[in-house]
Amino acid sequence: MTPDFQKDVILSDYTTICLGGKADNFISCATTESVQETVKYSKENNLSLQVISGGSNIIFPDEGYRGIVMKVDIKGISLKHENGKAKLITGAGENWDETVRYTVDNGLAGLECLSGIPGTAGATPVQNVGAYGQEVKDIVKIVKAIDRKTLDEVKFNNEECNFGYRDSRFKSSDKDRYIITEVIFEFDIKKEPEIKYPELKDYIERSSASLVTKSQIEKLNFIRESVLSLRKKKSMLTDPENPDTRSCGSFFTNPVLKEDEFKSFEKTAEDLNLKFPFYRTGSKYKIPAAWLVENSGFRKGYTENGAGISSSHSLALVNRGCSTEALLELSEKIKIRVKEKFGIRLMTEPVIVKNI
Ligand SMILES: Cc1cc2nc3c(=O)[nH]c(=O)nc-3n(C[C@H](O)[C@H](O)[C@H](O)COP(=O)(O)OP(=O)(O)OC[C@H]3O[C@@H](n4cnc5c(N)ncnc54)[C@H](O)[C@@H]3O)c2cc1C
Repeated sequence: MTPDFQKDVILSDYTTICLGGKADNFISCATTESVQETVKYSKENNLSLQVISGGSNIIFPDEGYRGIVMKVDIKGISLKHENGKAKLITGAGENWDETVRYTVDNGLAGLECLSGIPGTAGATPVQNVGAYGQEVKDIVKIVKAIDRKTLDEVKFNNEECNFGYRDSRFKSSDKDRYIITEVIFEFDIKKEPEIKYPELKDYIERSSASLVTKSQIEKLNFIRESVLSLRKKKSMLTDPENPDTRSCGSFFTNPVLKEDEFKSFEKTAEDLNLKFPFYRTGSKYKIPAAWLVENSGFRKGYTENGAGISSSHSLALVNRGCSTEALLELSEKIKIRVKEKFGIRLMTEPVIVKNI
């Protein structure tokens, strides 16, 4: 049976960066069975298939997509308590920020710093979503998915997801193989909220309210609101009224350098008389990509051919009336400049879709 496709759907309407032409076939799948049926149809009819959820980390080509775009819309959220743990079971299509709010309102610590990230629960394991000192990898218990090769329903435990910094098997080794249908997050119900990220810590310390006297739910809500305020200032909350949020959030990941690469970068920066921030992660060094972008000559607000850099965050490339081609040209230009000046290769964070 032919799935109920919508024809010639404008993809820019489904992405936060508002880019992309028409999809030949578009379908919203609200059940695991409809995901399986659509995959089966795409295989039998030799049509390529691209999965989309909230569209906040994906860029489609100007010419659109020749094949099927499948939007995962599986809903459902429930909470189970077992042996001092709480299990949150979420359909992949649940709105992420609503999911975080639900955990906060239930007094569960672990996702509160991920407030305000656009998109869906099912997409969070794909790039191990993270912000303000938290990552989903710390809380993900099970990821359920449909294997596009076999159409079987499969389950991955935390270790099997191969999580890394903005990475997992779903983004790298098994890119486009699995369609996530459900995620189970596990919380230790006795866990107190922890604030690790210096900027958030400072913000909370500077605010008049003390966390000590608050209940668990009040603390979590306070942290959530603080994160939302910080994100708002950087245009990192989607807002149709704010053109700086027509983006995919950060466009580049923060480079992680080995000792010898770090020494060479340090020498380059010294020769240029530049002081730079960095963070140790084990034996490696994380350099803020925002610093590299700014110090290679691309300031906040910079625009060419309608593609620009957000005026409140130098890592967000924004659509100020551009095409996908113009946006990708700007990103290449930035990458080349950073490589020439600092010898560091920036990596693109959002998924850039191509027609096969
Ligand atoms: C303003 C703004 C701020 C942001 N801030 C952050 C941040 O702080 N931290 C952060 O990590 N990210 C951030 N992002 C990026 C983005 O919100 C996250 O990566 C989010 O998880 C993407 O979810 P989505 O549902 O929109 O996925 P989409 O953009 O629809 O898809 C992204 C990728 O995941 C795949 N995918 C989506 N759903 C599924 C599924 N069910 N099964 C298999 N594959 C799937 C898609 O095929 C695609 O490859 C930000 C984006 C914006 C616009």
